[in-house]
Amino acid sequence: MRVIELGRDPDVGIADITQVVSMDPALAAKLLKIANSPMYAQRRRVDNLRQALMLLGLNAAMTLALSFSLVGSLAGGPASGMDYPRYWRRSLITALASRVIGKSMGLRRLEELFLAGLLQDIGMSVLDVALRGEYAAVLAQGTQHDALVRAEAGAFGADHAEVGAWIMEQWGMPDYLQAAARNSHATERSAVVCGDDGDDDDDDDATFCACVALASWLAEMWVVESRDEITARIGCHAKALLGLEAERLHEIIDEVGTLMPEASSVFEIELVDSMRVAAVLDHAREVLMVRNLQIIHEAAEARVQAERMEERARVAEERSRRDALTGAYNRAFLEDSLAREFELATERGWPLSIAFIDLDHFKRINDTWGHQAGDEILRRVVELLTRFVRKGDIVARYGGEEFVLVLPGARQSAACAMMDRLRSTIAAQPHELDDGQKVTVTISAGIATHMENGVACVDVSYLVRNADRAVYTAKRNGRNRVEVYSADA
Ligand code: GH3
Ligand code: MG
Ligand code: MG
Repeated sequence: MRVIELGRDPDVGIADITQVVSMDPALAAKLLKIANSPMYAQRRRVDNLRQALMLLGLNAAMTLALSFSLVGSLAGGPASGMDYPRYWRRSLITALASRVIGKSMGLRRLEELFLAGLLQDIGMSVLDVALRGEYAAVLAQGTQHDALVRAEAGAFGADHAEVGAWIMEQWGMPDYLQAAARNSHATERSAVVCGDDGDDDDDDDATFCACVALASWLAEMWVVESRDEITARIGCHAKALLGLEAERLHEIIDEVGTLMPEASSVFEIELVDSMRVAAVLDHAREVLMVRNLQIIHEAAEARVQAERMEERARVAEERSRRDALTGAYNRAFLEDSLAREFELATERGWPLSIAFIDLDHFKRINDTWGHQAGDEILRRVVELLTRFVRKGDIVARYGGEEFVLVLPGARQSAACAMMDRLRSTIAAQPHELDDGQKVTVTISAGIATHMENGVACVDVSYLVRNADRAVYTAKRNGRNRVEVYSADA
C-alpha cells in the first residue's frame, strides 16, 4: 500500500522509494538480486539498494517492489479449489513473457508490462476468496485457461478478466493494469479494447495490452500438461495480436526460458523444473517449425495457384484475340495492332505493307461442297498464310472469307513476291475432303504500302481501303491474282 501511495505522488523520488523499500529487508534483497539479474544485464555489479533503484529507474523500482509485495502477500493465501503454486507460476511466467515480448516490440514500459502480466489473472484469486466452493466447482471443470474463462462466464456472467479489472479499479490501481487484465484473453489485435490515456510519451496502449495477452497464452504453454494444442495456436495468436512471425516468436520463447531460473529464485517460486524448461522449449520449437514448414508449403501452393491463374488469364486473353473458326487474329485485334504498326511506321519512316485477301468464288464452293467443307478450307488457308508470313507479321480474319496480312517493315516488292508465292501455292495444292474429293481454291489479293518512296497514307483506314481496292482490281482482272494499289487504277 505504501508503494501504491508513493506511485500516486507526482513528486516522488528515488530517495523516497529507497526509504520505503529499505524498511523491508527481504524486498530490498530481491530488488538487488533483480538489478544484478540477466534481465538487466550489467557489466558492473550493483551492491547497494540506491544503485539498484537508480539502475532500475523510479518506475521500474516501484513496479517491481509492488510485484514482489503482491506475490508475497497472495502466495500463501487461504485456498479452496485453487492451485496457488500453479496460479503464481502462470502469473510470473506471464510477467516475464510480457516484458520479453514488449522489449521485442520496442516498447519502453517494460516494468509496467511485467507488473501487468503478473496481475492479469488477479480476478481468479478474487473469485476464489469471494466465492470459495462455487468457484472451486468451476475450477474443477478444466485446467485449460480458455475453458476456465468460458465456465466462469457461464456460472457468474463474468470471467476473471472482468473481475480482475474491476477489483483493480476499486483498489485505485493504474488504468493500464486494469486494461491489461480486461484484455488478457484477447487472441487478436482488433479484440483489444482500451481507452488511450492520451499520454504521448507512452507506448501504444493496445500494443501494451496485446503483449500481455500473448504472454498469457505463452504462459499457458508452460503450465498445462498437454501442450500440443496451445503451442500450435500460439503462432496464430502471435501473428493476430502483434504481427509476430514464427522466427521472432521462437526468440521470445527462448528468452523466456533463459530468464526463468533467475526469476523463480528472485520470486521464490518454483516456476518449472529445468527438465521441463528444456522440454517445453524443444516442444515449442518443434511445433512452431512444423507450422513454419506449413506456411512455406502454403506459400508455395499459393504461388503455383497464382501461376496457374496467370496462365489461365493469358490463355483467355489470347483466345479473346482469336477468331474461333480459323484461329487467325480477329478483327478487333487487327484494328488495334494495325493502328500501332501504322503509328510506328509513320514515326520511324519504316515501310508498312498490308495484303487484303479474298477467296475466289467461295459462295460456289459452299454451294457445291457444303458449308463444313467451306469451313475446313478456311482453316487450311489460314494455316498456309501463317506458314508464309514472318515472325511479327499478323494474320487476321477481316470477315467471312476475307483476310488481312499486316507486314511491318516489308517493302511493296517483298510483299508482292511473298503474296505471289502464297497465291500459287494455294492454287497448286487442292484441298482433299473427307470423302477423298479434291477441291481447288484460289485467292485474289491486293497490296498497299505505307511509307515507301515518299508515299504516306493519311491514316490507317486509307491503307486498308487502298488494299481493298486492289483486291477489286484483281477480281476484275480475272481472279487468282495479286494486284498492287495505285492511285490511277
Ligand atoms: P468472289 O470471287 O467475287 O469473292 O466470290 P465470292 O463467292 O467469294 O464472294 P461473296 O462475297 O459473294 O461470297 C462470300 C461467301 O463466303 C459467302 C459466304 O457464304 C461465304 N462465307 C463467309 N463466311 C463463311 C464461313 O465462315 N464459312 C463458310 N463455309 N463460308 C463462309
Ligand atoms: Mg468476299
Ligand atoms: Mg470471295
